[in-house]
Amino acid sequence: MVRAVKHLFPTKADEIHADWQWQLRHQIRETSSLLEHPRLQHARIQQRLRLALEADRSLARSFRFALTPYYLSLINPDENGHCPVLEQILPAPDELDASIYADPDPLAEERHMPVRGLTHRYPDRVLWYTSHHCAVYCRFCLRKRKVSHADSAPRKSEQSAILEYIASHTEIKEVILSGGDPLTLTDAQIGVMLAELKNIQHIISIRIHTRMPVTLPMRITDELCSILRAHYPLTLVTHFNHAAEVGPQAFDSVRRLRMAGVLVLNQSVLLRNVNDTVQDQEDLILTLLRAGIKPYYLHRCDEVRGVAHFRVPIETGRNILRELRGRNPGIALPRYMIDLPGGGGKVPYEPDYLQEIGTDAEGHSYYRFQNAFNTEYRVRADRPHSDVD
Ligand SMILES: *Cc1c(COP(=O)(O)O)cnc(C)c1O
Ligand code: SF4
Repeated sequence: MVRAVKHLFPTKADEIHADWQWQLRHQIRETSSLLEHPRLQHARIQQRLRLALEADRSLARSFRFALTPYYLSLINPDENGHCPVLEQILPAPDELDASIYADPDPLAEERHMPVRGLTHRYPDRVLWYTSHHCAVYCRFCLRKRKVSHADSAPRKSEQSAILEYIASHTEIKEVILSGGDPLTLTDAQIGVMLAELKNIQHIISIRIHTRMPVTLPMRITDELCSILRAHYPLTLVTHFNHAAEVGPQAFDSVRRLRMAGVLVLNQSVLLRNVNDTVQDQEDLILTLLRAGIKPYYLHRCDEVRGVAHFRVPIETGRNILRELRGRNPGIALPRYMIDLPGGGGKVPYEPDYLQEIGTDAEGHSYYRFQNAFNTEYRVRADRPHSDVD
């Protein structure tokens, strides 16, 4: 049974799309709604949609399907029925297979929680889960275990316990507002949180981790921007995975954030069938740079239950970065990061340009490097005249 979904095909798109609350009220929550979409009639997509529908019957209770009409408007499959946006949101039968990675929390985020709703893993930084809601639910989400569940959402009483913890731990330098998506909260709630954190002397950096510029750019309103401006300096880390996600509204939302004095960075996840080629990553980082966003991290997809079908070999990301370096502006290159299972934290795993450490005929030690174009160069390791020291 296919429900009639008039709002999927708005006639006055510009008017309707401009209101972020309208977008959330009209979130698409039924996989079946997509079957009728005019851009999704390709035979391969229809087959894929039916599989998604079937899988969602079992998955919906643990991880919801939902997207904004805006994000739906970005879906534009090629002649083979492939679309990097669609791939990110469609439930897949593979999500039901828990045989490969059974752990819902391989990064031990729940174990490193001194107070409910706060992960304190690194000595100097804390991650605050401010909301379990998002504008769009991404199938590769590393917090599938709790994101999208209304009943597990953070409680109001937790907020004061969290603020007390942060205030009494002077080793904490940075607070990361994460979730879910912190920008699902109201402007007033966000304003209060930022003000409270700014009041704590030892907090030198506040970061907001949000996918709103990607999934609901109209959330970046003038009102929100004036709150962010008032709490300068702030860093906002967003999450574009593909150049196809960076449309005019996304550009505009980032421009407004930058005008409000916010540093805008991007983290993406390396995902099979979404962005696992050199071309995908080059298009992404150059489009981000054009939009005024600095690519920060490219994450290896974590060993989370129900996302194994998105994973690619660990070397894929490293090889992609090797291809990108030397051919693209250095400021456009993200770091390739592996989050160690068991809660070890993140480590970069990047191309190695060092070929050899040796000693020349005069007894000077040298480093032999290969540049981005495979030519080799020797670099003297010591200070000049270090041998007479
Ligand atoms: C990723 C992460 C951070 C932030 O790490 P950065 O390398 O500073 O971006 C902080 N806390 C936890 C638990 C994390 O997983
Ligand atoms: S926006 Fe972030 S937290 Fe929300 S579902 Fe997507 S990846 Fe998960």
